[in-house]
Amino acid sequence: MKSYPIAAPDIGALEAQYVLEAVESGWISSIGKFVTRFEDEFAAFSGAAHGVSMTNGTDALRIAMRAMGIGAGDEVIVPALSFIAVHASVVDCGAVPVMVDIDERHWCLDPSLVAKAIGPRTKAIVAVHSYGHPADMDALREAIGDREIFLIEDAAESHGAKYKGRTVGSLGDAAGFSFYGNKLLTTGEGGIMLTNDAELAERTRFLRDHAMDKDRRYFHPEVGYNCRLTNIQAAIGCAQIERADELIGRKNDLFGLYERHSADLPFVKLNPAEEWAEPVNWLTCAVLEPEYAHLRDDLCAALKEKGVDTRPFFIPAFEMPPYADYPVFHNAETLDKTVSSEISQRGFNLPTLTDMDESDVAYIAEAVASSFEAVSGNASQSQSAG
Ligand SMILES: *Cc1c(COP(=O)(O)O)cnc(C)c1O
Repeated sequence: MKSYPIAAPDIGALEAQYVLEAVESGWISSIGKFVTRFEDEFAAFSGAAHGVSMTNGTDALRIAMRAMGIGAGDEVIVPALSFIAVHASVVDCGAVPVMVDIDERHWCLDPSLVAKAIGPRTKAIVAVHSYGHPADMDALREAIGDREIFLIEDAAESHGAKYKGRTVGSLGDAAGFSFYGNKLLTTGEGGIMLTNDAELAERTRFLRDHAMDKDRRYFHPEVGYNCRLTNIQAAIGCAQIERADELIGRKNDLFGLYERHSADLPFVKLNPAEEWAEPVNWLTCAVLEPEYAHLRDDLCAALKEKGVDTRPFFIPAFEMPPYADYPVFHNAETLDKTVSSEISQRGFNLPTLTDMDESDVAYIAEAVASSFEAVSGNASQSQSAG
């Protein structure tokens, strides 16, 4: 039987060569030529002026927020539906995450609800570019108006995606990226904070490096962190950046194949694409039509039997105990439930691997079709059996 994991890093000879170079140079900790090269090259790739590499994407977000002075008493607007690192990093700063529903058209923050959620304590908005699709940055800027509110991009799922022709990572006051093993580009574990603001970059770097005084060794005027990337990880990252167009391009081509085969899958919709967006295919997403929502978990279990790994969509943060009491902004006066809950219950991810070809997609699409038939048949039988 064929077997498809949901995602896998694409690591080749160039990565191995750079890692060997790093190891043989003796610079295996967080100083070394690959670290600075990685920071400069990834910033350039994303169109930003400065890059501060990090242990992971979560640290990039929380240390950027610390560097912005976000803390107790502040509110940070975040999408209700995203990976929990977003909500956790706000709480970690001592601030309140204000959860705003997503827009069903692109699964990112709904700007009209953000406008309602902004209050006197709002210090920042974290715009997640969700599942490869950019957030509507201009509409979010408009919601902010002339207030002093930071607009932070979380581009962990969207390396190289474009918003109105501009690459994500350079569109806000700062951006966080992840290079975890399942992301579009990887360093194993790793992250980076990008910004065009030299002072913010320097302050982020300072907090990342134990908040040590630049001019007085072992003097620490603030409480800092140690969240540095190693030269070995950065070596992998440099190779991935050289291969970025190839790696991202292959997954985008793969999405084209999925789209073609989705003609046989009328019960799902794949990833959205607004006309102002050039999304990237981090993970291929399938969202069941509303009437089939209850079949999602059975469908994924049946796919597992056929060797096709899937993931359910993220769960809205307000459904989880640590976040249940924070404010939520949604349109539930006009809807039965939040868009976040709705999409969350109906969505799942399909294998998205750089080495998949037409025959792989054909196998998976056929597996989805036959599994759907099986589980919907079972469901109607058990209903009629009553
Ligand atoms: C993966 C991810 C992160 C966290 O990145 P790590 O490197 O795993 O810490 C943050 N935000 C979003 C939206 C993500 O998908």
